Amino acid sequence: MARIVMKFGGTSMAGTERIRRVANLVRKQAAGGNQVAVVVSAMAGETDRLVNFCREANPLYDPAEYDVVVASGEQVTSGLLALTLQSLGADARSWLGWQLPVRTVEAHAKARVEAIDADALTSAMEAGQIAVIPGFQGVSEDGRITTMGRGGSDTSAVAIAAAVKADRCDIYTDVDGVYTTDPRIVAKARKLKAVTYEEMLELASVGAKVLQTRSVGLAMKEGVRVQVLSSFVGDDAIPADELPGTMIVSEEEMNILVEKGEMERQHVTGIAHDKNEAKIILTRVPDKPGAVAHIFDPLAKAAINVDMIIQNVGRDKGETDVTFTVPQADLARAQALLEDKRDDIGFNRLITDSKIAKISVVGVGMKSHAGVASTMFKALADRGINIQAITTSEIKVSVLIDEDETELAVRVLHTAYGLDADDEAA
Ligand code: ADP
Ligand code: ASP
Ligand code: MG
Repeated sequence: MARIVMKFGGTSMAGTERIRRVANLVRKQAAGGNQVAVVVSAMAGETDRLVNFCREANPLYDPAEYDVVVASGEQVTSGLLALTLQSLGADARSWLGWQLPVRTVEAHAKARVEAIDADALTSAMEAGQIAVIPGFQGVSEDGRITTMGRGGSDTSAVAIAAAVKADRCDIYTDVDGVYTTDPRIVAKARKLKAVTYEEMLELASVGAKVLQTRSVGLAMKEGVRVQVLSSFVGDDAIPADELPGTMIVSEEEMNILVEKGEMERQHVTGIAHDKNEAKIILTRVPDKPGAVAHIFDPLAKAAINVDMIIQNVGRDKGETDVTFTVPQADLARAQALLEDKRDDIGFNRLITDSKIAKISVVGVGMKSHAGVASTMFKALADRGINIQAITTSEIKVSVLIDEDETELAVRVLHTAYGLDADDEAA
């Protein structure tokens, strides 16, 4: 007997017919005496619709009221799944975020799970009841509803799995695993049997939206076994317990898989893209100690995440240009803050560009192999794709390019690193 948390994303929950298929998968997992908790997303498109209502009601919306509105999508699907399970003869009930409760801290709209009181949940599961939990939502210290940022149901599922000490957390989505890159962009993308926590964390943080970044960090910290797999399967599909999807594993487990010949060790494991950043250039900033601090201090205070930074070589007259990226959603705020500090910073012009994309290649193999970055630069240059900025970490190289060249760049790099499905491993 195992204890399993199953999470279903928006496409899997989109409408009565799909929910019935989900209920069948849940019932199958519960058959044979397994204890099951299910975490659900809102129906596909619903959260976007609710966010738009908030914007229309008040462009400067109060995040606490935004949470009240957007958390409702998951309330609907959790109730509907419980009803559907009941109609199939299963014992099921919904547990809303405040009922468990899922305690969260920090800001509304980007709340972080602090603790989950899982006693009631585990008792219900032990008694054979299927628990259905709306993802994405929690409750703040002062008892108000919160949400965990877009894609947050993944994090809810991992947090629940950690709280009930589940044997596995299965993330059901509309693709059958984690691929070498987004399979909707590159037809030759290859499904990975396993990927390390570290690589998945990096891939998620640079734009692979198949798992929310925080869910991977939490799984790594709590040692939750996570599988990504498809809910779009027929009755004859390989059961989830036989691990048909992609497992997120530790580096030690990966080494064992490589030794057994079940995984190949590549220099690059995956490629991701992110179109949600914007570039800011400040021209003719004084080239002296403290100048850069004047730029980034107000942004940090406003909790605006700066990603790539380039300070050009000083020109004559002790001036330099500074280029950096911020999330597109924060661009207007960043611009206003910088204009406000124009005299302190002493820049000449502020230029912005939202038509950019960040392309990243990720792989633990880079730690011990030189030349990954130069392969990237050469492959892009051969196609005439211009690189506007570069950043690296131990297991990642990212470049900033023109947004229009995103798909081409991802494809070219996928081929350059020998990741295409019909290639032999590089
Ligand atoms: P859900 O609604 O189930 O949470 P998401 O849309 O958030 O699903 O995430 C699944 C999507 O992630 C896939 O449809 C796919 O287009 C995208 N994706 C991006 N990068 C990858 C990748 N490397 N592997 C698999 N899917 C990816
Ligand atoms: N419904 C939320 C969203 O669309 C949470 C999720 O699906 O994970 O972001
Ligand atoms: Mg998602």
